[in-house]
Amino acid sequence: MFLSYQYRLYPFPAQESELRRWLSELTFLWNYSVEERAGGWRLRHERRTYLDQQARLKAWRAYDRAGLGSLPYDVARDQLQRVDLAFRAFFRPGAEGRRGRRRSGYPRFHRRTDSFTFVTIRDPLVRGPGIGAQAQLKVPTLGRVPLRLHRPPPASGTPKSVTVSARADGWYATVQYEIPDPTPPTVPARSPVGIDLGLSHLATLSDGTAVDPPTFLRRTLRRLRHAQRSLSRRQRGSGRWERQRQRVARYHAHVARQRRHFAHTLTHGWVVQHDRIAMEDLDVPRLATAGRLARPIHDAGWGMLRPMCAYKELRRSGRYVEVPSEGTTQSCSGCGRRHDPPLTLRDRTYDCPCGLRLDRDVNAARNILARALALDSPSELPRNPREVTRGERLPPPQRAGPRVYQQRRATSSNREHATRHESASAFSVP
Ligand SMILES: [Zn+2]
Repeated sequence: MFLSYQYRLYPFPAQESELRRWLSELTFLWNYSVEERAGGWRLRHERRTYLDQQARLKAWRAYDRAGLGSLPYDVARDQLQRVDLAFRAFFRPGAEGRRGRRRSGYPRFHRRTDSFTFVTIRDPLVRGPGIGAQAQLKVPTLGRVPLRLHRPPPASGTPKSVTVSARADGWYATVQYEIPDPTPPTVPARSPVGIDLGLSHLATLSDGTAVDPPTFLRRTLRRLRHAQRSLSRRQRGSGRWERQRQRVARYHAHVARQRRHFAHTLTHGWVVQHDRIAMEDLDVPRLATAGRLARPIHDAGWGMLRPMCAYKELRRSGRYVEVPSEGTTQSCSGCGRRHDPPLTLRDRTYDCPCGLRLDRDVNAARNILARALALDSPSELPRNPREVTRGERLPPPQRAGPRVYQQRRATSSNREHATRHESASAFSVP
């Protein structure tokens, strides 16, 4: 399986300006390649493929020695692969892919590129004695960039690739490792748990535990909203507006970091205590875009909890299971009877003629657990069970040799549309 480890980078000023230059070269490469494909088709009905573009990369780099030629080859090639991924995502038939995933938009020009990837075979980290002491990241042609090694990389991991990204709050390196597949579980789960994700509580466990969103998140969200209001009052494009824009971006990064930290801590606790975790097979991407529910679901970071449980269980030879969500709230976890009339969102307790009286979310969590356990005895198999197995939520395996594309979601859709800000001659047809 593949694991990504993320570290903060602290480049020296000279390194930082060099990194920024790389990113602007890559922005130009992106925009040129997108226009070459789009314009080639628009003007002459010519199709340019990734291979066409890659084949000419060498000549381009030889010609532009001080520009694109000064970057490592695989960094430039990776950018072409990203362009290719963006086009593939757009042309992928809508019905394919996972449920609820919306079709990607047509690749656009980028105002800036904020990350690059290079392939690595040897350990890219230089470590001093102890954790965090004098660690560095080896970046080809650039040299060693100081890095905070807040945790050691996996002991048995083989490094595959490194992505360096510029964010509002600084520089990051994401190192992808391949680790040997853990042994699959052989004995039935000792301590299974069902988890109901909700809005009144972030999560409710079948053992009765309820998890609220953390207060620190609420606090930073309030500060973020305040900063956003202040931004909207400023003159767009002015110096004060720009400073405030950067402040808002830093708050956003802060909130995202807190959310991820909280989700990691929470799921870690679950995985340590339970060797099987069951959740509902909810269509989070679709729920999250569905009007009024969108904000709280996004705030709660639901989308993160499930994949985190999946890979953490997998690493510990435990299991993460998703069961059909149909009726988990509306049926009694004691006798299986349907609630009549159906429970509304306002009903907090589940009351059943059989005598069961339970918090509605705990009842749902118990139903989820029961369905997961039924997976072990095939006779009671519920309809359409969907078990998350290895590979489904993890990056595809990589072959040796040329890097196989990572299954990144096309990054183009959430970027701002940028008009041709590069010189017009850059797009002239050869
Ligand atoms: Zn009942």
